[in-house]
Amino acid sequence: MFPEPVLLRAKEEFLDWQGCGLSVLAMSHRGKEFISIAEKSEQDLRQLLAIPANYKVLFLQGGASSQFAMVPLNLLGQKSTANYVCTGAWSDKAIQEAQKFCRVHIAASSRDTGFKHIPNPHDWDICKDAAYLHYTSNETIGGVEFHYVPDVDGMPLISDMSSNILSEPIDINQFGLIYAGAQKNMGPAGIAVVIVREDLLGNTPSTIPTMYDLLAHAKSGSMLNTPATYNWYLMGLVFEWLIDRGGVEALEVSNKRKAEKLYRVIDDSGFYTNPVDPSGRSRMNIPFLLAETSLEKTFLSEATKENLVALEGHRSVGGMRASIYNAMPEEGVDALIGFMIEFERCYG
Ligand SMILES: *Cc1c(COP(=O)(O)O)cnc(C)c1O
Repeated sequence: MFPEPVLLRAKEEFLDWQGCGLSVLAMSHRGKEFISIAEKSEQDLRQLLAIPANYKVLFLQGGASSQFAMVPLNLLGQKSTANYVCTGAWSDKAIQEAQKFCRVHIAASSRDTGFKHIPNPHDWDICKDAAYLHYTSNETIGGVEFHYVPDVDGMPLISDMSSNILSEPIDINQFGLIYAGAQKNMGPAGIAVVIVREDLLGNTPSTIPTMYDLLAHAKSGSMLNTPATYNWYLMGLVFEWLIDRGGVEALEVSNKRKAEKLYRVIDDSGFYTNPVDPSGRSRMNIPFLLAETSLEKTFLSEATKENLVALEGHRSVGGMRASIYNAMPEEGVDALIGFMIEFERCYG
């Protein structure tokens, strides 16, 4: 979902941004109007996540997927090994890409349970002579989420937070680099955020293609080439909306409540099931199965009639999935719950 107040504001400002006579779409990215938009959005993100001054914040194209390559390209330094934790489809993709650039050491994996849990931190086997450890804090497809930050004993910790960034407060100091595509929890598709500790950049001797060079992006204020200006602007509006709603602390409370309600309905029924171990359940993406697979189509079509849409599970896993990101109001979850109870009554 996209927050409605943001859409309304964008609509209002579409033809003429704050009386300057220009649409954001027509602005030069180097003009003072757009520079002010860019600076404000960075400030607001810094405020939301309490990002310390020694971290750079980058607004890049290429989605989270480009970071699968940019992380090893930029952070390997003199090392040839990197630790990866494998908890599902997205960490798998990050691993496959990293394997093009380095030796990937799998420090932990939950493949043995079909990615239904978060590996117990006591069982991890971290390679000490590696450049960093990478993990996916929320597996969007499988609906498994870390509810703690892995302890890596000073090694740079890298996290793909595409689907849970800004859903709760985090301590940025625990991370070397965080990246996230905007389209799940921050804004429109087409822009990604990278938050990186300054001292980690510029230590890799090999020649990195300029557009893949995080230091070059950092030095140019994410304006190495023309950035995705309109997406950047929209994301800035989402940040303002999040601040108005009380910031990530307030969102965490609401996100917890939304997820707990939905899991309760699933767990209390003999009709719906969630396959994930309770300690690793995602607050953002809640997959569920119906007692009878043959009812899935009926479930989806009946749901659509109630304006409950986008409930199909990812095509790779099937079943249902409710993605209840920050922009999903509690009433949206209540409506889904009401529908699920009624559907079970009719078909269960
Ligand atoms: C969606 C997603 C990605 C891919 O994002 P793109 O911006 O499409 O490249 C990567 N990681 C996670 C966890 C995701 O949810």
